[in-house]
Amino acid sequence: MRIVVLRLGHRIQRDQRITTHVGLTARALGAEGMLLDSDDTGIEKSLNEATARWGGSFYVRRITNWKNEVKKWKETGGKVMHLTMYGINLPDVTHEILSHDLLIVVGAEKVPPEIYDLADWNVAVGNQPHSEVAALAIVLDRLQKASGKDPLKTHFMGGELKITPSRAGKEVKSR
Ligand code: SAM
Repeated sequence: MRIVVLRLGHRIQRDQRITTHVGLTARALGAEGMLLDSDDTGIEKSLNEATARWGGSFYVRRITNWKNEVKKWKETGGKVMHLTMYGINLPDVTHEILSHDLLIVVGAEKVPPEIYDLADWNVAVGNQPHSEVAALAIVLDRLQKASGKDPLKTHFMGGELKITPSRAGKEVKSR
């Protein structure tokens, strides 16, 4: 199951921190990369630095036409899951979504209305407003766990540093 995140509607000044957190969460919890609907190079730089330091092969790709990206993804057989509090609640559609390659779309303030039609599923992580970071984390965890993979057990190859889990303090080794 391939998973790529599409971050829609990023505003360069306002969303820098939260979009970086969307990317970090996507990376840490098993997505292969993030498409960023913006020409903000700062996000790409931060995420590339995290990958250089902590390993793995996560990528950020800035895009200019999100609809084309969605169409291309679908043409290659992938499915599109849009996260919105107005959608079908995740536990009620998980069984349909499993085993597909997924483009997971998360918005910033307000998403373009066309995404509701272009998506194969409009999915809520509970039908209450919260955060794209929380929604993405729960989806990545639940879908992969339901497919038999625990995203918290992912092994990241390469990188400059590796954490040795510790009950007290910080243990970090250089590679
Ligand atoms: N009014 C927006 C909406 O349509 O969901 C809320 C904007 S919210 C701050 C930013 C993003 O967080 C949304 O585009 C959506 O991807 C995600 N989000 C927030 N609450 C969610 C929920 N309960 N389920 C799924 N996604 C959610």
